Amino acid sequence: MTNVVSQRKKSECVFEKLEKVIPGGVNSPVRAFTGLNQTPLVVSSGNGAILTDADGKHYIDYCCSWGPLIHGHAHPKILEAVVERIQKGTSFGITTEIEEMLARKVVDLVESVERVRFVSSGTEATMSAVRLARGFTKKNLIVKFTGNYHGHADGFLVQAGSGLAMQSAAASSAGVPDAMVQDCISLTYNDTISVREFLRRSDVKGRLAGVIIEPVAGNMGVVPASLEFLTMLREETRRCDALLIFDEVITGFRLSLQGCQGLIAIKPDLTCFGKIIGGGFPAAAFGGRRDVMEYLAPLGSVYQAGTLSGNPVAMEAGYQTLSMLEKPGFYQTLQELTNVITEPVKEALRGCNACLQQEGSLFTIFFGKNEVRNMDDAREGDLEAFARLFRYRFENDVYLPPSQFEACFVSAVHTEEQLVKTRDLILDFFEPQIRLQSRVVC
Ligand SMILES: *Cc1c(COP(=O)(O)O)cnc(C)c1O
Repeated sequence: MTNVVSQRKKSECVFEKLEKVIPGGVNSPVRAFTGLNQTPLVVSSGNGAILTDADGKHYIDYCCSWGPLIHGHAHPKILEAVVERIQKGTSFGITTEIEEMLARKVVDLVESVERVRFVSSGTEATMSAVRLARGFTKKNLIVKFTGNYHGHADGFLVQAGSGLAMQSAAASSAGVPDAMVQDCISLTYNDTISVREFLRRSDVKGRLAGVIIEPVAGNMGVVPASLEFLTMLREETRRCDALLIFDEVITGFRLSLQGCQGLIAIKPDLTCFGKIIGGGFPAAAFGGRRDVMEYLAPLGSVYQAGTLSGNPVAMEAGYQTLSMLEKPGFYQTLQELTNVITEPVKEALRGCNACLQQEGSLFTIFFGKNEVRNMDDAREGDLEAFARLFRYRFENDVYLPPSQFEACFVSAVHTEEQLVKTRDLILDFFEPQIRLQSRVVC
């Protein structure tokens, strides 16, 4: 450890200075490496699948900016188009043609999306989608699921299970008045029976505006919703005249060209996009049924706006990013690359008290659990073991998202050699445990 510290002198120095001007030294809390007993990474550049830190040390990156960089860092095609775009001016606050090009692509690709509006962050997309659902249905209650993340807007920061009696919901963050979360209830992910029971209560139909869900959760580690659970939500929201909102900020354009909804026969009323849709720039979107979307100002009475919404530089990056995803076989190849790591690790962990959960190019290794279906399962895992794996990989130049409750992201530019190196590191890490396990079995 001392050895590692001394290799990261410049990063430590920069971070110390950051702490003097920015709370915790970071602009988003997960970057602080809480619980990992390390100075956070301070990056100077990225290229392909490689990050370079302030000390010139290289890492294979499985964070990829938390998902947007499906084509890796500084992809030449995206860079070239963006540079050309920047030279024509960076922001107008006025309509540009590139907005239509990206919107057309989203509408053509994602069947459930007839109209789309761009915003600058996933937080804005989910916040606006919920406002729209409430405006359209003229009802207020929103159901969400514990362990799903929908950004940091006040209305989502509700404590798990609170307000089940339809009163006295409690906020999960200081600074959020309980009144702001009165109309949001957080239920258990994948618990078809209890959630159906709640949605069928006699006082729910008249109050329910919508249900928002990550159809594959990426914010408690990778945890897919069961088809049964999603089917139930589709049926019950319909019966309640409420909207089903898929938060596909991570899964959109990640799991398929149509996101998660392209892989299942369930169509949401509204979908939120972010991350990949901005190609590494601050852009996000929400879209869906035309009759619902036309409730937005200026056509309708639901207000929503943004100075930098549809920013042409971000639109260009998003447009180039999505265009490259349309290459035949893209997702198949991406999955095969990911499998270089995941298949052997899954095999090795069979019978161990750990598991690897994967959806396409997303995966998470959980410790102390053979399956994770919801946030309680994820929390019960062995977080100290995760921290050990994180440190082991970090010391060996592989960077994972610095939290158990996040997904690892593989990009299309990770090379076989990088993936094999990562795979072998993980297998080495588990080796003692696997050996112990096989001795127990024998
Ligand atoms: C990242 C994320 C958000 C929030 O997006 P920001 O751009 O960080 O505001 C919302 N929903 C999900 C599922 C996300 O992963």
